[in-house]
Amino acid sequence: MAILSELVTALHDGRIQVVDLTSPLHAGTPILELPAQFGQTNPFQLQEISRYDDRGPAWYWNNIVTGEHTGTHFDAPVHWVTGKDHEDVSQVLPERLMGPAVVIDRAQDAADDPDFLLEIEHVQAWEAEHGALPDGGWLLYRTGWDARSHDAQAYANADEAGPHTPGISAGCAKWLAEETSLLGLGVETVGTDAGAAPGFDPMFPCHAFLAATGKYGLTQLQNVARLPATGAVVIASPLPIVGGSGSPARVLALVERDA
Ligand code: MN
Repeated sequence: MAILSELVTALHDGRIQVVDLTSPLHAGTPILELPAQFGQTNPFQLQEISRYDDRGPAWYWNNIVTGEHTGTHFDAPVHWVTGKDHEDVSQVLPERLMGPAVVIDRAQDAADDPDFLLEIEHVQAWEAEHGALPDGGWLLYRTGWDARSHDAQAYANADEAGPHTPGISAGCAKWLAEETSLLGLGVETVGTDAGAAPGFDPMFPCHAFLAATGKYGLTQLQNVARLPATGAVVIASPLPIVGGSGSPARVLALVERDA
């Protein structure tokens, strides 16, 4: 009782700030485009039902068209074949939608090399400075890629060889999945894997290893730069789509204001 009341007071007086990590969801929201032989996701779309008109004189509403993996979204383990016996998005316990979050900032490396990959030694160097990755928490991987999210072309950063966007090496993905007790991984890019990850071994290693160990993904995050390296709490709220592999999500962070 006392803790929640203190939380409410701190939210009210600004000692705790709420940072919205969610990208706005609209028809121009970038989506993942797979090689042409694969099925493709829909972009987000509003389909107007009525707007204070003869279809509904006093009300405005829309149908929405969206992929599960459109915009800022949550990857459930069942999204990947390696996690097919794990949770669908509706089965994720609410207690596992909230947790501590840490930020590894490699924006400068990604600016220098859009194919930059996070390696185990980068994470270990971070841990030497900031402490261990949090049990039951999120690792948020800052690459600066959110600055491109208003421009689908710059965001995909593709040439004839495919997209060039930063990610995580296969070795580091395996290590994060198997050797840490993270809840999951959050990224600023269109998916948790690097643009070049279709060519990695295994392909899409973040998806493959995280799903295999029941871990989650959060993508297309914004405002990660506003979070401290440690100490934030992240609330991820995917829709409980029964049988769903993921869902667009509102992702919020609670941050203590510097004294
Ligand atoms: Mn996804």
